[in-house]
Amino acid sequence: MITTIFLCLMFTSCGKKKKSDSFEAMSTYCSVQIYGGSTKNISQAKAKIFEIENLVSTTKTDSEIFRINSNPEAKNKVNELTYRLVDYSKRMAYETEGALNPALYPVTSAWGFTTQKYTVPSQEKIDELKNCIDFTKIQLTETASDSGKDYFIQLDKNMKLDLGAVGKGFAGDEVLKLLSQKGIKSALIDFGGNVQALGTKPDGSAWRVGIRSSWSDSPVAVLEIKNQAVITSGGSERFFEADDGKRYIHIFDADTCRPVENNIASLTIVCDSGAYGDSLSTAMFVMGTEKAIKYQQARKDFEMIIITEDREIFYTAGLENKIRLLEQFSETQIIR
Ligand code: AMP
Ligand code: MG
Repeated sequence: MITTIFLCLMFTSCGKKKKSDSFEAMSTYCSVQIYGGSTKNISQAKAKIFEIENLVSTTKTDSEIFRINSNPEAKNKVNELTYRLVDYSKRMAYETEGALNPALYPVTSAWGFTTQKYTVPSQEKIDELKNCIDFTKIQLTETASDSGKDYFIQLDKNMKLDLGAVGKGFAGDEVLKLLSQKGIKSALIDFGGNVQALGTKPDGSAWRVGIRSSWSDSPVAVLEIKNQAVITSGGSERFFEADDGKRYIHIFDADTCRPVENNIASLTIVCDSGAYGDSLSTAMFVMGTEKAIKYQQARKDFEMIIITEDREIFYTAGLENKIRLLEQFSETQIIR
């Protein structure tokens, strides 16, 4: 499994005691640790994660996304958090020219990723799906109300949302914002391999985050970060092998409505925001190495590590003094 792990977190200095908890949330293992603050702050962080999960889960029958997906043509009133996540995802869909597509639920469910009853749909079914995933048709409306603002989301017939590509990063940002408002200056959350750091370690030094590969249980690289998110997308996180002997991964190309097939084993984004990193990790994975590098070069507001199935590693120049490789890659390239 490709995950990012964090290392060397067992000690503290400055007398700030570590408090932590780990639990299952958003279909993954999640851990929160803070330095300073109280156990109440850990409970508040946990409550925020469950609040977001209960709003945006596609499988919980009382979530807002489930309600929208069950009645897409209605003008569905939603919580501000749901609205912001969908709004942000739609904007990133435009930004990445549809490589990120928050309206892909019809596709992910047709392939069985939402129920774990995996199947390869017929070409006829796939052609039908292409008519149900137009993210530009997601309508977002804000209206003034007595309580401040009301938020609404409306889709077209047969459309459904899947926010799996952005939800964890978005939730991480909300948790770090909350902890920061409570006066905490040093915290780290791990959402199934997505690591988001608030500030530095209590002694002022950088957090050390391990990057894992698909072929080894131990990290293949270590990154030093301060106040940043390290978000990874990988094919081996979730996939199935079909009767045709092929391996189908959980990341989809909206143009073909099929799982992405490229040489990328994992793609990691390092940037200031979890929602941005999470959107980009998926979108750059879909674009593939060449296009992803062009995209990064045009923007330069994030850093990126691509590890390929051939054990090559490419990383952007901004990481040069922050990354340490722990194994021999077949090729190492710094993207300038
Ligand atoms: P991540 O692990 O952040 O790359 O997110 C992958 C998850 O996002 C998948 O499990 C799907 O639920 C969903 N997904 C797959 N492909 C896409 C895509 N091209 N755009 C948006 N969401 C996607
Ligand atoms: Mg993502």
